[in-house]
Formats: sequence, C-alpha cells, structure tokens
Amino acid sequence: MDGHLLSVARRVKGFMPDAEGQDLHQAGLEGGRLGPLLEIGSYCGKSAVYLGSAARAAGTVLFTVDHHHGSEENQAGWEHHDPEVVDPRSGRMDTLPFLRRTLEDAGLEDFVVAVVGESTTVAAHWGTQVGLLFIDGGHALDVAMADYDAWARFVLPGGILAIHDVFEDPADGGQAPFEVWQSAVADGFTPISTTGSLRTLRR
Ligand code: SAH
Ligand code: MG
Repeated sequence: MDGHLLSVARRVKGFMPDAEGQDLHQAGLEGGRLGPLLEIGSYCGKSAVYLGSAARAAGTVLFTVDHHHGSEENQAGWEHHDPEVVDPRSGRMDTLPFLRRTLEDAGLEDFVVAVVGESTTVAAHWGTQVGLLFIDGGHALDVAMADYDAWARFVLPGGILAIHDVFEDPADGGQAPFEVWQSAVADGFTPISTTGSLRTLRR
C-alpha cells in the first residue's frame, strides 16, 4: 500500500490493527475488480483508508456508511469510548468531522463517498451491487445481524464479504460478528481468509 496512505491509516483513531487493515486492502483490490466497495461503520475513517486506497487502485469507489453517533459500545461509560469525539454542543458523539479530515489528509476524497445515515435505512433504498461488503458497524447481535440481512444481497457473485471482530472464543470478545460469519457460511459464502479478527468470504 502507498506509504502516505499507510501512515495516515496508522495514525487515525479507530479499531483496525495494521495487519488486518492490509488484509482488508488486499480484499478491496480483489473485490474492486467486480464493482464498488461498501463499508458499514466508518467511525473516523481508519478502515476507510485501507479500503479507499484499494478502491483508487482498482478504479472504483468506496461507499462508507455511518450515522456517526457511535455504537452502543462507543458511548460514555463503555469500553470503546473516546471523549474527544463528543460534540460539546449536543453532548452526543459525532465522528463525521474526523472522517472528513482523514479523507482529506489521505487525499482520498475522490474515491471515498461518505453516506451518513442509519445502515438499514440506507440499505432499504440501496440498489447498487458491490464487489466487496465490509461489516463493521454496531456489534450488538440484533444490530450486526440486521446489517448482514440488509446488505449481504448486494454482494456480486464472486464478490467478497468481510466481517470484523470475529471471535470464536467468547473470552476474546463479543459473539455477534461470529454469529454473522456463521450465518454467511450457512448461506453459502465460502471462507477465504482470517487475519486476527478479520474474516473474508467469497460469494
Ligand atoms: N471501521 C472503523 C470502526 C467502526 S466502529 C475503524 O476502522 O476504525 C462502528 C461504527 O458503526 C461507529 O462509528 C457507529 O456510529 C457505527 N454504527 C453503529 N450502528 C450503526 C447503524 N445502525 N447505522 C449506521 N452506523 C452505525
Ligand atoms: Mg471493528
């Protein structure tokens, strides 16, 4: 991956270890041959840099969907809370300004389209098939499964489904993404890679 993009990805706030980001980038290069890339869960744009860099190289774009008010697990009092992303005016989380700065610093504004809204609402009005779908939104079981149910149908034949934070052992983390992965396998997606908690499958 381009050195400048890699340094931006590494310094941006977020939840994507570099090895997983690089695997995601590879998956993006592959999926990008078939169609655009789509991410659920932008946060401050860390994974969007790994994927956006792949979109640029593949001659396509990344759509990244988030309401930018944080998941349950990002709220005050929870493990993944960062007070710097709270908007003092409303007292609510707002990560959109951080995402915009990340894309500007990375020089990826022409290749990454921020879609601001609730994931399943966007999906209900969506129509474009994608070469790669990356699910990294809310990690509560109902939320993660709703993302899968709403978006999996848009993955093109031969396209890639990537799921983050998949932990087989409950001691390592929440089980919702693992349940989503199991549903995908049951639905006929073929597992292709595991890097840390990132799993990819092919339709
Ligand atoms: N991919 C990011 C991390 C995403 S954190 C990285 O690389 O760092 C999960 C994100 O999902 C949060 O920003 C949260 O606002 C968003 N989210 C959670 N539930 C959502 C929903 N139902 N619709 C849209 N976005 C949602
Ligand atoms: Mg994640």
